[in-house]
Amino acid sequence: MAGKLLIIGFGPGSYEHITKRAREAIQESEVIIGYNTYVDLIAGLLSDQQIVRTGMTEEVSRAQEAVRQAKLGKKVAVISSGDAGVYGMAGLVYEVLMEQGWKREGGVEVEVVPGISSVHSTGSLLGAPIMHDSCTISLSDHLTPWELIAKRVEAAGMADFVIALYNPRSGRRTRQIVETQKILLKYRSPLTPVGIVKSAYRDRQHIVVTTLEDMLNHDIGMLTTIIIGNSATKLYEGLMITPRGYQRKYTLGAETQPLKPHQRLKSEAEPWALEQLEEEQFTESFEVYDEEDEFGFIEEDEEDTGIEEPILLKSSSSPSMRNSLELAMEALQLVSQGTGSNIAEEFNNHLTATQSIFEFAVSPGIANKKLSAVQLIAIGEIVGERGDIEYSPHHQLIVRVQTDNPQRITTELSALGLLLSPIGDVAQIKACDFCNLEKGDSIPYAEAIHNRIGHLEVPKELKIGFNGCGMACYGAVQQDIGIVYRKEKFDLFLGGKTVGRNAHAAQPVAEGIDPEELVELVTRIVERYQKEGHPNERFHKFFKRVKEIEGYRHQEAVGFVIENALCGD
Ligand code: SAH
Repeated sequence: MAGKLLIIGFGPGSYEHITKRAREAIQESEVIIGYNTYVDLIAGLLSDQQIVRTGMTEEVSRAQEAVRQAKLGKKVAVISSGDAGVYGMAGLVYEVLMEQGWKREGGVEVEVVPGISSVHSTGSLLGAPIMHDSCTISLSDHLTPWELIAKRVEAAGMADFVIALYNPRSGRRTRQIVETQKILLKYRSPLTPVGIVKSAYRDRQHIVVTTLEDMLNHDIGMLTTIIIGNSATKLYEGLMITPRGYQRKYTLGAETQPLKPHQRLKSEAEPWALEQLEEEQFTESFEVYDEEDEFGFIEEDEEDTGIEEPILLKSSSSPSMRNSLELAMEALQLVSQGTGSNIAEEFNNHLTATQSIFEFAVSPGIANKKLSAVQLIAIGEIVGERGDIEYSPHHQLIVRVQTDNPQRITTELSALGLLLSPIGDVAQIKACDFCNLEKGDSIPYAEAIHNRIGHLEVPKELKIGFNGCGMACYGAVQQDIGIVYRKEKFDLFLGGKTVGRNAHAAQPVAEGIDPEELVELVTRIVERYQKEGHPNERFHKFFKRVKEIEGYRHQEAVGFVIENALCGD
């Protein structure tokens, strides 16, 4: 039986705003994959579908799981709020498929079901703020460099787009919206209308209409979309209304229109249109605004062919032949003249060069916890002004730098005695300082474990706590796997729940393990988790599911059950 992937946008969250096709698609699926809140929002549509939501907090694993199940012959619905193709799951599922060499012909069938995106649902609640040329910008810099986001805000501000800001702010990302307001105030009046909509068409819907200068005095969160008006947007009766154009061909409300309908599209009635502008006039002044087409008046032979012109950054074609990117570049050049900066050049560099960000963890060693001045200076120089260093909870500094030569960085830092490790879903040993290296008998075992499995890719990040005496003061027993050296033997602990409000210590499973057996034993445990763990399944959940590892039986942790909160909640 052929499986199918249905990637469904279910709109803002209310039943009435789910499209008919989205409802049918949800109902005809056998498996529903989605973030908990989303599954709850569509609960009324579900019958006996299998729901995959627990242990699936990560989008990539959700996409992988969807593809896996569809390949097994199931009809799988992947649900996104709004439209699945707007900062949603559609692109991600296709990325997973592309990586697997998927072909349209013969490969698993894919249907993307469109939904009402937040720009439209929030726009409708605010009046008619979109109306004219608009853009969406996500302020999330988890996967996009902030510099690029800031440039887009800058370009959109400059070009007078109506702007819908997605992901404007979360618990941890609070500065982005402040910077965005600052940039926009360079181009737009402080009194520009701004709409802030939280939870559109959901129970806690909240709408605020304010101004660009006042916008930060209101509640903005993860479920908020902000719409910034353009220079022509008006406030009326608490609504935001953007007119259809900047030039008026007729006067609304007037009894007799200055131009008859058949005269309105004549070129002499549109002195601001491209056709009417002389070449010099066009290149000299960018303050000439264009008027949109009359509704429904697209002439047949002008209809969009759907074929995109190739992007030419530098060309000598005539103005009417130039594409919008060239025009934008020229506009950027004009604006940056005399400012000392060349925004256009930087923007161009961004378009042409994709630099990769090299991300790694660095620490002074397995047991050593002290960084020297020389080491810190070297890290600082590598990071420079554009990279960053984050102090992690795992005895490491996380370093992010843009580079096309990661090898040079690793060689330089390793030569200074620093320990570099990959980050993400890998096994990591977290050892204590062995009482300032004074109780160091077990260090060789910690190092051997690090060398054997330290960088192994696993279903979810795995911390192996290793403490050199029974005090276990570095909290080995709180980790996924805990190892404590005592009386020349090792005690072993498995399945700590390291995060969450219901975190708990690992279960003691063995005492007095012979040192010669330790490394092999831990390696076998980690390798089994690596092979049999589900994507994104934390080690404690794996232990609970498989019930037994290396002869050690899982025991339910005693305590009361509290629901875990999502990050930032
Ligand atoms: N695919 C979604 C966007 C996902 S990104 C869509 O097309 O709408 C997540 C962001 O979407 C949120 O940070 C918020 O900016 C916006 N968003 C999603 N649902 C919303 C709602 N009901 N009300 C307001 N904003 C919403």
